[in-house]
Amino acid sequence: MSKIIIIGSGLGGLTCGLMLAREGHDVTILEQQRRPGGCLQCFTRSGVKFETGMHIIGSAERNQLLGLIMQYLEVYDKVRLQPLDDDVYDIVVIDDERFVFPKGYDALIESLSGRFPDEAEHIREFFALVKEVANASAMHRLSIDDSDFVITTRYQMESINAVIDRYISDPLLKRVLVGNLPLYAGIKDKTPFSTYAFITDFYLKSSFRFADGSEALSDTMIKLFEQYGGKLYTSKQVVKIECDEHCARTVVTTDGSRFDADYVISTTHPARTIEWLTETKLLRPAYRNRIKDLPNSLGAFSLYIKFKPGAVPYLRSNIYEYPGGDPWECDKYTPDNWPLGYLYMHFSRDESTDTAKTGVVLSYMHYDDVKQWEGTEPMKRGAEYEEFKKRHAEHLLDVIEERHPGFRDLIECYYTSTPLTYRDYTGVEGGGMYGIAKDINLGAAGRVTHATRIPNLFLSGQNINSHGILGVIVGAVITCSEFIPIERIFSEIKSFYDPSLAQ
Ligand SMILES: Cc1cc2nc3c(=O)[nH]c(=O)nc-3n(C[C@H](O)[C@H](O)[C@H](O)COP(=O)(O)OP(=O)(O)OC[C@H]3O[C@@H](n4cnc5c(N)ncnc54)[C@H](O)[C@@H]3O)c2cc1C
Repeated sequence: MSKIIIIGSGLGGLTCGLMLAREGHDVTILEQQRRPGGCLQCFTRSGVKFETGMHIIGSAERNQLLGLIMQYLEVYDKVRLQPLDDDVYDIVVIDDERFVFPKGYDALIESLSGRFPDEAEHIREFFALVKEVANASAMHRLSIDDSDFVITTRYQMESINAVIDRYISDPLLKRVLVGNLPLYAGIKDKTPFSTYAFITDFYLKSSFRFADGSEALSDTMIKLFEQYGGKLYTSKQVVKIECDEHCARTVVTTDGSRFDADYVISTTHPARTIEWLTETKLLRPAYRNRIKDLPNSLGAFSLYIKFKPGAVPYLRSNIYEYPGGDPWECDKYTPDNWPLGYLYMHFSRDESTDTAKTGVVLSYMHYDDVKQWEGTEPMKRGAEYEEFKKRHAEHLLDVIEERHPGFRDLIECYYTSTPLTYRDYTGVEGGGMYGIAKDINLGAAGRVTHATRIPNLFLSGQNINSHGILGVIVGAVITCSEFIPIERIFSEIKSFYDPSLAQ
């Protein structure tokens, strides 16, 4: 059995850790923060819990893909999932019109066709393609045959808007179809259609929130990981990976602790991982430069609201509002017209009254907006930064109040975060929401594989496959297939399928 050091205790690190410790490997996870979990962390202020980076998950019914994987990871029955409203899990508001997204392909096609009857046939064809592309992935089918490689590759190279333009003529419908764009921080002419297909399919099948916060998932995974003999050390910030002329040998943290390894798996940003290597010749300069230059996804300004007790009925839908009218344009805001769009959600349901204790509003924010404070630490960034956050929070609330009069009266207090917060709590480059951004124009050069030229150094986490709960877990499965035969992983996941539940 091998000694494996994993860097980072977010979903990627915990999934790899759990899978490999269960196989009997000697696994240690090193986490820089005092609290583990990365984007699965919640925080508590004024007695209520706020979600930071894992708000909605999809395909988590018992027989659906994430549900099966969660059973394989032994976490399914240990975390409480709160289903969103089947009739309307997403609400997209564009040009003051409200579009509802119900669960299931047929229901969504019917709903959109009712509003856009001239496009009915095109809508059907478009969603048939979404389904085909999502199903083309080997992981999706839990099968190692790659017969649909052609479809996957083609739609990794074509942008979302190009495909939508091919199928749909109505300009409003084109915008509605990308109404949940913040879930993948899509950029026009860049983000691949395959990303759209996976995410649309994922949430269309079923959508949930974590009833006790996403930290319930990380807490459960850590407990299992430790039961399998894994060790997790927090406040251990990795700064160096010592190498000999062939391999990675020892991982070193800021406090001087040294961890010898047969294998190292880094789930942090690949550009950082490369900088930690003491032997530069092990990786080609072209590879280093390529990784360093990869674009990162957009960051967000988050407004965490504590509602007055019992004041707000708990909403089982997510609301995407676009004061700017176009989801594609939201990242092109100026100081005068921010925010051009935002996502609004409820959390911390009071189960006795079915009211929401908290809400979160997310709106894009570029790292450059907060760059002047990048040399500062959390809670010590100074009065000017606090004023910046307050100004943005108040403005965001003004915009919401204009559309929903009385909203301010429901609020007891609020807290905020910026891309700097995410940079400092998760180590993500530029505080981006989803790690490295996918760009069709970069082709294969835009992708990072789990294997490196260093035979015992692997990568995992949101940068190697895709972000989000499914993207990261699938990435971890790919990384762990270096240690566990992929056929076995797939067949074990499939074994949880319960035919008696199939309709
Ligand atoms: C605002 C926001 C909203 C989101 N909403 C959703 C959603 O609704 N649904 C969904 O599925 N996904 C969502 N995501 C995406 C999802 O949360 C992430 O893709 C996923 O959690 C990333 O997991 P990870 O393990 O790759 O990285 P992380 O969770 O970032 O974990 C990386 C870990 O590495 C640690 N680390 C970094 N550097 C070092 C170092 N030098 N030494 C030791 N440790 C280090 C970090 O502290 C961190 O704990 C959201 C993300 C954000 C930011």
